Amino acid sequence: MNQPWKPAPFAYVRPGTTEDALTELARDGAKVLAGGQSLVPVLAMRLGRPSMLVDINAVPELRQISRSNGHLGVGATVRQRQVQYDDAAAAVPLLRLALPWVGHREIRSRGTVCGSIAHADPSAELPAVASCLDATMVVAGAEGVREIPAAEFFTGAMSTVILPEELLTEVRFPVAEEGDGFGFGEIARRHGDFALAGAAVRVRTTSAGSRARISCFGISDHPVTRDVTEQLRSALDATGTDPDESDLRRALADHADGIADDVVDTGGDAHASAAYRRQLIAGLVSRQVARAYLKSLRPHREGKP
Ligand SMILES: Cc1cc2nc3c(=O)[nH]c(=O)nc-3n(C[C@H](O)[C@H](O)[C@H](O)COP(=O)(O)OP(=O)(O)OC[C@H]3O[C@@H](n4cnc5c(N)ncnc54)[C@H](O)[C@@H]3O)c2cc1C
Repeated sequence: MNQPWKPAPFAYVRPGTTEDALTELARDGAKVLAGGQSLVPVLAMRLGRPSMLVDINAVPELRQISRSNGHLGVGATVRQRQVQYDDAAAAVPLLRLALPWVGHREIRSRGTVCGSIAHADPSAELPAVASCLDATMVVAGAEGVREIPAAEFFTGAMSTVILPEELLTEVRFPVAEEGDGFGFGEIARRHGDFALAGAAVRVRTTSAGSRARISCFGISDHPVTRDVTEQLRSALDATGTDPDESDLRRALADHADGIADDVVDTGGDAHASAAYRRQLIAGLVSRQVARAYLKSLRPHREGKP
């Protein structure tokens, strides 16, 4: 075997400001290094050969977790594990539900939330969380700052609207409100592996009724988000508005095959067939929408996903 398992040569810079990082990124062949948990294996396997790595870890303003105007801002070098246990981040319960599924503790200790979203692996959890919550991606470049809604951000497998010379400086997640309930689930061969299929769910219940939204991952080249309010209402018509979880799950199952047919957009691969992924999505959506609905009825307590 001739595989060298070492990266091709590259230059390395560690700027101290966002401005300097953008200057470095403007050079041909430059690439951002955040946690390195996806990039370093790519380099080692020589699937990518950037001429320069721009290590953003010495930029102080990118380390911030902040809360303002109903959003939680997570800076570009904030680690996944930090968000998992941060008090302020408890205001976004869906992140807390999803993060334990991202790889292993060691990966989350280095990997960043923004890096996962910029990397845009089709089987990754955090792009689906960003899509389900309609998070805003703050992207800086030489021309200034762009604020991009999740619906416009992911363009395909490992592909987003970020240009090579731009930097995702922050992701802004809306904080949970009274009447919000969340669900998150995935099926992987082993815990820590990338998902064969997964679903993130938000249900918002107000005096006007309940609205439900799902983002599915591992089933297309990017997260697939759908409003499933009508399906939830129809299931509630069948069960009454005070069902237990298993009754509601069974009622939702009547709609879940249709949802799965709609969202699964893959011909299958070495890991799972398309039919199996549809089956997984149908089960995940029924269970997690039921859970999220029941949670949306409870008094809102930050940090209790
Ligand atoms: C064994 C193993 C298991 C894993 N399992 C999972 C899993 O189950 N689920 C999952 O989602 N992930 C998994 N990962 C990936 C991990 O979560 C990574 O941390 C994450 O995908 C990338 O984050 P990072 O900060 O390490 O980014 P890096 O590896 O540093 O960068 C990844 C890519 O994003 C770009 N990038 C990073 N940050 C920015 C930015 N701020 N602006 C612009 N571009 C940027 C880089 O240039 C690079 O192209 C796993 C990794 C390993 C090694």
